[in-house]
Amino acid sequence: MSLTRTTCPYCGVGCGVLADADGTIKGDPEHPANYGRLCSKGSALGETINLDGRLLTPQIRGQRASWTEALDLVADEFSAAVRDHGPDSVAFYVSGQLLTEDYYVANKLMKGFIGSANIDTNSRLCMASSVAGHKRAFGSDTVPGTYDDLEEADLIVLVGSNLAWCHPVLHQRIAAVKEKRPDLRIVNIDPRLTATSELADIHLKISPDGDIALFNGLLAYLVAEGMVDTDYITANVSGFDEALAAAKTCDPTESGLSARDLLQFYALWAKNRKVVTVYSQGVNQSECGTDKVNAILNCHLATGRVGAPGCGPFSVTGQPNAMGGREVGGLANMLANHLDIENSGHRDAVQMFWESPTICQQPGLKAVDLFEACARGKIKALWVMSTNPAVSMPDANGVSDAIANVPFVVVSDIMARTDTGDLADVLLPATGWGEKDGTVTNSERRVSRQRAFLPTPGDARPDWKIICDVAARMGWGDAFSYDSPSEVFSEYIALSEATRTFGRDLDLSVFADADYAALLPTQWPQNNHRFFADGKFYHPDGKARMVAIATPIRSLGSFRLNTGRNRDQWHTMTRTGKAPRLGAHLAEPYVEVHPDDAAALELEPGDLVQLNNGANDCILRALVTPRVAQGHLFAPMHWTRQRTSRSMINSVTPSQTDPVSGQPALKSGSVSATRFKGA
Ligand code: SF4
Repeated sequence: MSLTRTTCPYCGVGCGVLADADGTIKGDPEHPANYGRLCSKGSALGETINLDGRLLTPQIRGQRASWTEALDLVADEFSAAVRDHGPDSVAFYVSGQLLTEDYYVANKLMKGFIGSANIDTNSRLCMASSVAGHKRAFGSDTVPGTYDDLEEADLIVLVGSNLAWCHPVLHQRIAAVKEKRPDLRIVNIDPRLTATSELADIHLKISPDGDIALFNGLLAYLVAEGMVDTDYITANVSGFDEALAAAKTCDPTESGLSARDLLQFYALWAKNRKVVTVYSQGVNQSECGTDKVNAILNCHLATGRVGAPGCGPFSVTGQPNAMGGREVGGLANMLANHLDIENSGHRDAVQMFWESPTICQQPGLKAVDLFEACARGKIKALWVMSTNPAVSMPDANGVSDAIANVPFVVVSDIMARTDTGDLADVLLPATGWGEKDGTVTNSERRVSRQRAFLPTPGDARPDWKIICDVAARMGWGDAFSYDSPSEVFSEYIALSEATRTFGRDLDLSVFADADYAALLPTQWPQNNHRFFADGKFYHPDGKARMVAIATPIRSLGSFRLNTGRNRDQWHTMTRTGKAPRLGAHLAEPYVEVHPDDAAALELEPGDLVQLNNGANDCILRALVTPRVAQGHLFAPMHWTRQRTSRSMINSVTPSQTDPVSGQPALKSGSVSATRFKGA
C-alpha cells in the first residue's frame, strides 16, 4: 500500500505520519521528531477523518450560498468597514492549526494591504510569553533548543509542563533515554502531581506562579556558590548586576518549596553542566509569564548554559504550527520573518517586498484586547479562522457576547456547528487535515509537509485560497494570485532572503532551492546549526540581556483554579471528539479537588461541584485526589457549550493578561466552590 507522508495536526512535537484514505495511520519511522512513534491522539487520527458534522458549503446567515455570493459579501463588508471606519475597525483571529502558507497570506492581507495589525492568533494563549521573553533576552524570538538536546542532557528540568499528556512523544523519547541512562536526572516543577511527575526523580510541588522566586533563588545560589561563568558574562551578557540585585531581594521559599527541596534542586542544577529547562503553559499562561521566562533564561545565561549540545532553555509549543505562525508574523505585534512592526526600516523592507499600498504602523490588538474591542463596538468586521474563541478564550461567555456584538462576523472552519460559528453571518467551508497541502514548523524549528491524501469534501477550499479569493475581491488580485501553496511558500522564503540584511535569526536559505512536493522534514537555519554557540545574540551590541525580575504580588481567592489539557483530547474536541476510544479516557468534564477541601465542602467523589468567579459559574464532576494541593483546583478546557451546556471551564477563567506578552493567565483563576445540589 502506498501511504502519504504527512504530519500530525495536534501538538507542537510535529510527529511524522504515514496515512491513507482508508484510515490507515502509522508513525513515520524516518521523521526526526518521532522516529515512528505516535501517541493516543495521533494513532486515532484515522477515526477522525469522516465527514460527520462537516461544513461542506458556504452559508450566509444560515442559508446555503455559492462561493461567489459568500466571497463577494465578505469582501464588500470588510471593504466598507475599512472605508467608513478605518483599517483598525476590522480584525482577523486565526489559529496555530493554520498551515504556514495560510498564515502568511492572512498576515500579508491584513498588515500590508488592509493596513492594520489587527490579526492575532490563538497561539497568543500558548506561547506569547516565551516570544516576549526570548526577545528581551536574545533580541529575537529564537528558540535555541532541539529534541536531540533532551537526549544529550544530564539534567532535564520540566517546568509547568505536563509533557506526558501534552507532548507525549517527546516524553516517550525522554523516557527511552532514562531507561538507557538511569543517571539522567529529571526534575518536574508543577503545582500538580501529573503523569509527567511519575518519570521524574524529583517532583517539586511549587505554588502557582512560584517560578520567579524559585529561579531568582537559583541565580542567587549560583552566584553565592561561585558557579556562574564570569568570562561568558563579561563577553556575551549584559544586565547581570541588575538581575542579581533583583534576585537577591526575593525569598525563594515564596515558591512554596521547603529550604531542603530548594537546596536539593539548586545543587543538582549547579552540579550538572548539561541542563535543559523545558517549559510550557504553566510558565507562559500567567500574569507574570514573561518574567517567569526571563527568570529561567537568566540562570542559563549566567552560567553560559546555552548554545551548547545538551544545554539550554527550551520552550515547547502547544500547537502544531505555533512556530510557523511566529515565523510569518502571525502575532499582532510582529511582522513576517521575525521583523518588528515598531521598526520603520523593517516595515519599509516588508512593504517594498510585498509592493503593497500600505503597511501597518503599530502593533495591533492582542487576543484579549481584540475581543474587548469587539465588546466595545470598535470592530465592525471580524474573521475567525480555524478556531473556536467562544469556548477557548478566558471569560468565554464575555467573548461570546463580544463576537455577537460585531456587525459582521465570518468564520472559516471545517465544522458546521461550533460555538463561534453559530455567531457568524458567513460560514466558509475550509479543507481539513488530510485534505490540504502546506507546511508546519514544530517546536525545534523543523519544517515538515502536511500533504493531502483525501479528496476535497463538498465545496471546501484551503484557507490560503479563501483568503486570496477575498483579497482579490478587495482589489488586490495581483498580489494574491498564487496557484498553489508552493508558490506562497516560495514567496515567504524569498522574503526571508530579502530581509536578511537586518541580521535576524530567520535564515531559511536551506529552503531556497527545495523541491516543495518532495520536501523532507528540515530544520532551519540548517541541520546541525546551533544558535548562540558563538556567544553572539541579536541585540544591537551582540550581547544577550539578563532581565531584573521582581517577585510578583499574588492575590489569591478562595480557590486557585488551574486549567489544562487531558491526554486524549485536543482543544475543543472538534476532531478528537469523533474517536470513541479517546473519549473513554476521561469521559466527562471534571474538576480535581484535594481530599481535605472535598471534606470541607462535604463533597463525595463523583458529586457535582459548582465553581463561581463572581460573574459566571460552571458545574463539574468532583474528582477527589491529592494530585492537586489543598486550596487548588484543576479542570481541563475541552468541553464546549454545545457538548455540556454548563460545564465549560472557560466560563470562569479570568481575562487578566501578562502586561508584556498579552498572554492570558489561564492557570490563575480565583473561584468559589460549593457542592451543587440542583437538578
Ligand atoms: Fe501528534 Fe503530538 Fe501525539 Fe506526536 S505527540 S502524535 S504530534 S499529538
